[in-house]
Amino acid sequence: MGNYRMVESDHDVALEDTDRIHGRTALVNNVKAASSLAGAIRSTLGPKGLDKMLVDGDGTALVTNDGVTVLEKANVEHPTARLLIDASSSQDRSARDGTTTTVLLVAEMLQNALELVRMGVHPSIIVNGYSIALEESISEIERVSRESDEVQRSQVVKTSLQGKGDSSICGLIANLAVEAANGLVGTEGGDDLERMVVKRLQIREGSVMDSSLVNGLMLLKSRVDATSPANSEGGVVAIIDWGLEQPKLEANASIEVSSLGVLQEFHERSRENMQKQVEHLASLGIDLLIVRDGIADEAITQLTEAGIVAYRRFERDDMDLLSRISGAKPARNASALGMGDLGTYSKRSEESIADVKHTIIEGDGVGMTLVVRGSSPAVREEAIRIFDDAIGVAHRLNSRPGILPGGGAIQSHLARHLRPFSQTQSGREQLAIEAYASALESIPRILAENAGRDPVEVILSLSADQKKSGAWIGFDLQRGENCDMAEMGILDTEFVVKHALSGATEAAIGVLRIDDVLWARTDPSTPDWEGEDED
Ligand code: ADP
Ligand code: MG
Repeated sequence: MGNYRMVESDHDVALEDTDRIHGRTALVNNVKAASSLAGAIRSTLGPKGLDKMLVDGDGTALVTNDGVTVLEKANVEHPTARLLIDASSSQDRSARDGTTTTVLLVAEMLQNALELVRMGVHPSIIVNGYSIALEESISEIERVSRESDEVQRSQVVKTSLQGKGDSSICGLIANLAVEAANGLVGTEGGDDLERMVVKRLQIREGSVMDSSLVNGLMLLKSRVDATSPANSEGGVVAIIDWGLEQPKLEANASIEVSSLGVLQEFHERSRENMQKQVEHLASLGIDLLIVRDGIADEAITQLTEAGIVAYRRFERDDMDLLSRISGAKPARNASALGMGDLGTYSKRSEESIADVKHTIIEGDGVGMTLVVRGSSPAVREEAIRIFDDAIGVAHRLNSRPGILPGGGAIQSHLARHLRPFSQTQSGREQLAIEAYASALESIPRILAENAGRDPVEVILSLSADQKKSGAWIGFDLQRGENCDMAEMGILDTEFVVKHALSGATEAAIGVLRIDDVLWARTDPSTPDWEGEDED
């Protein structure tokens, strides 16, 4: 894909690169860039968010509802805008959700900061106030959060998928993702583990709703010799990361073959050599052989006679996954294989799906296959994208099980909590903490806007209802009213919310500091308002 430009041209103007300008003007321009960027993705927030269409130089269109996709594909050069995009990408990398929220929060924090600067508050005071507000918010989040149970884990994953696709598909995929993530509990490998141990296998036949999760490695392949057994209850496996083949008799080498006898002798020797390799494999006790490259024809019967079922032309990814599942270490060739390289598997079976043979190999090591069905590649790829997001969240949830009320409830609650808290702080920092509180409120506000509701009304009623019934009351966009988010199953993950909040605060502080440095060079008593065009 090429470089995409945002279709909405009015946002382009402010995204143009600007030269370093000093004093207030720098902050004004930086805030403008942040707001333009936020404006471009604002309408994608929430379950009722709209899709964006991005068009690249040669007219290829990409339709997406994902804030981070919009931003990563857009032609953005403004340094501040880049900072926001980086914050959003970092959110995607580490939390796999909350990318749009992050950008909207930074823009809102900066907008409010600019207003304070205009009132004469120094950026460094705002930086302090924002840091205090973040710290207080994090501890309040920890107080409000609850530990999720199995049902809620599925609900929170579903909430994170809202708006990403058809709701029944999202529901199915969320359940598969939770099931897959549960299979990863106790396996070492960090946050990217979920990307390595779950293979995605696409099958054209069937509907996307028939997609399923299979334990073990499943692949579109059948054994080399159809006379060998199709199934096994387990045994010893070896992997050859090359071929089980003879050195080829080259064309110019054949010229030197003077008589038929020499050629026959060559073939005889090759056969013997192959037999020796097969005997070596059999002596190791192997009954399943996986070869990445080819297997010579003469070896096929020899292997079957030795009781070894073989598969050839294995993809590297499949080989790596099988290696995880079985513990087998790939060797360069048959003779190099030793006892230490062998692995074990617990089951091998072959299954026909729409008349095409597939093989499934299971073992003690963790490895799974998501079988995605559906007649069009677009549908299957969308399901895979949804699954990737879903398992990212589900996997993290197993080690960080905290959940929070969704639908803007937690942000509204934090805003209500921060306002009285700011009174306990000194002087001008109070103003900054209040500005921070208002920035948080932008999330329920934008959610309401995107659902076509009056944002002011929603904020006020939400705040009133929370005062009465607590932080878990939120605005359900589907029903259009305030309700208990735990009851409705509209849940946000604690780590996504926390990461979005700290990522956004850091980015906003980063921008404010740029200004701080520049301000220090000019005379602080004479703010430089020249060059600022208010429109
Ligand atoms: P992000 O990229 O930040 O994850 P999303 O477009 O996924 O943005 O929107 C996430 C927001 O939508 C969260 O605040 C979540 O609580 C909210 N949300 C999801 N489903 C609902 C719902 N049914 N009602 C209200 N809010 C919802
Ligand atoms: Mg989301």
